Amino acid sequence: LSCITARFNLFSNLPFITLTASHSDPSDISSSLKSLSLDGHFSFDDIHKAARDFGNRYQFFPMAILHPKSVLDIAATINHIYRMGRRSELTVAARGHGHSLQGQAQAHQGVVVNMESLRGLEMQIHAGKRPYVDVYGGELWINILHESLKHGFSPKSWTDYLHLTVGGTLSNAGISGQAFRHGPQISNVYQLEVVTGKGEVVNCSKKQNADLFYSVLGGLGQFGIITRARIALEPAPKMVKWIKVLYSDFSIFASDQEHLITTEKTFDYIEGFVLINRTGILNNWRSSFNPKDSLQASQFNSEGRTLYCLEMAKNFNPDETDLMNQEIESFLSQLSYIPSTLFQSEVSYTEFLDRVHLSEIKLRSKGLWEVPHPWLNLLIPKSRIHDFAEEVFGNILTDTSNGPVLIYPLRKSKWNSRTSAVTPGEEIFYLVAFLSSALPSSTGTNGLEHILTQNKRILDFCRTARLGMKQYLPHYTTQEEWRAHFGSRWEAFVQRKSTYDPLAILAPGQRIFQKAV
Ligand code: FAD
Repeated sequence: LSCITARFNLFSNLPFITLTASHSDPSDISSSLKSLSLDGHFSFDDIHKAARDFGNRYQFFPMAILHPKSVLDIAATINHIYRMGRRSELTVAARGHGHSLQGQAQAHQGVVVNMESLRGLEMQIHAGKRPYVDVYGGELWINILHESLKHGFSPKSWTDYLHLTVGGTLSNAGISGQAFRHGPQISNVYQLEVVTGKGEVVNCSKKQNADLFYSVLGGLGQFGIITRARIALEPAPKMVKWIKVLYSDFSIFASDQEHLITTEKTFDYIEGFVLINRTGILNNWRSSFNPKDSLQASQFNSEGRTLYCLEMAKNFNPDETDLMNQEIESFLSQLSYIPSTLFQSEVSYTEFLDRVHLSEIKLRSKGLWEVPHPWLNLLIPKSRIHDFAEEVFGNILTDTSNGPVLIYPLRKSKWNSRTSAVTPGEEIFYLVAFLSSALPSSTGTNGLEHILTQNKRILDFCRTARLGMKQYLPHYTTQEEWRAHFGSRWEAFVQRKSTYDPLAILAPGQRIFQKAV
C-alpha cells in the first residue's frame, strides 16, 4: 500500500499554537488514562486499527483507543484530558466507521474513540405526527433503515452508501439524491446529545442550546462528539422504480436536472453521472436494467462520446403501481434525453438504498475495496457549472475508468445557514464527486500519482477560473486554505471553537486547529 505518513509539522501555521516545555511523559499519560473508572476500557496494543481509513493514504498512530460503553466514558475521558490542560498534547478523535479519506478520524499520539462500541444499544422509534428515531452517534445508517422499516418508517435523507455512522455523516452534511427535496441529513435532525471539548454532556436542539446544535451539524467534529441523535422519519415505501436515461449534450442534461429539482411534482431521488470513453461500462449497467424499447436500445451506440446519465427514482407501494407509472410518464415527457436510452428497473426500497453495498461486496472479492481512494468532492455554483463541465469533462478527464463521477444539483434553501456546513452562494449548486480508486502498484493512468495530479488540475482550474467552488468533505493543510474555505464565516467558526473546545482537543485529523500546549 502506498501510505503517506503525514507528520505534525504540517500543522505549523495553524492557530492555537503556544509552545511550552512542560509536557507530561507518555507513560504517565497512559497510566492516568488507565486509572479512569469507566464502563468500557482503553486498549493500547491494537492502535494500528485506528490508524487507517477508507482513503487508505494517511496513517496517524494514536496512543490509545477508547471503547466506550456509555456516554459518561467519553465525557470522563475528555474531561480528564481537558483538566490536564496544556501539560499534555493529547487529542481525541471520534471514529465512526473510519470512512474518511485523509485521516480525519485519526489522532496522532492521541485517543481515538471507537464510536461503534456505543452502537447496538436499543434504538427508540417514536410514531405520531412527527415520527423520529433516537440513535447512538456510532450507529450505522443501514441499521437505522432496518430498524425503522420494522415500524413502517424510514429516515428522509440519505447518503449513497449506508455503512457510515450517524456522527460521521452529520459532521459533514450527508448528501444523496433525496437532498434536493429534504435537504442534507443535517437538515433532518431534531435533537443531539453532545460531549463538548470540556467533557460536558449537553442536549441541544433548535430551541435548547441552539448555537451548539448548529455548530456541531456540519462541524467536522470540531465542537463536540455526537453521542445521540434524534433523526426525522417518514412513512416508508415498499418499492422503488429506478430509471436511467442518457444525454450527449451537457446543457440539456443540466437543464433537465434543474427542472426536476425545482418542480413540485417530481421524482423522489435525482442524481446523475458522467461517462467518458466508457463503452464497456455502459453495457454493464444496462444489464441490470431493462430497456423501455429493446430494439431501439440495441441500436444505440455511444461512438466514444462523453455521455451524461440522469438517474431518477420514484418510491411506490405495490397497490399504487398504475398511478406511479402514469406520474412517471408525465415527468419523463418533460425531459429531452436520447429516447432510445431509457432503462428502468423495479427494486425493493432497501435494495435501492443499500445499492452501493453490492458494489462493495464485488470489489472486496477482487481485493479492490481496500485500495487508496483519492476522492475529490466539489460543490460548484449553477452559474459556473457549464465552464466547469467544458474544462473538466472536455479537457482534464480523458476517461472515467478510475471510478464513478457523480454530478447532481442541490438547493441551498434546503440547508440551514446556521449550521457549520459550507456551500456556494447560489440557490442551486452541483455536487460533483470524483470517486476514484487507485491501483496500488500502478504507475499508469489508474495509479495514485496520476489521479492526484488530475485532482490538482481540477482544483487549480476552479481557483484560477474563480468558480466560487467549495469542497465537500474538505481537506486542507494550511490555515490560509481553511480561512478561504469558510470565507466570511471563519471568525464565527473560530469563536465557536473557543467556546466549545477551547484547548482544541477534538478531531485533530481535520487539521484546522492545533491543540494548545
Ligand atoms: P469517520 O470517518 O469515522 O469520521 C469522520 C469525521 O467525523 C472525523 O473527523 C471524525 O472525528 C468525526 N466524527 C465521527 N463520529 C463522530 C461523532 N459521533 N461525533 C462527532 N464527530 C464525529 N457522504 C455523503 O454525504 N454522501 C454520500 O453519498 C457518501 N457516500 C460515501 C460512500 C462511501 C463508499 C464512502 C467511503 C464515503 C461516502 N461519503 C458520503 C462520505 C462520508 O459521509 C464521510 O466520509 C463520513 O465521514 C463517513 O462516516 P464515518 O462514520 O465513517 O466517519
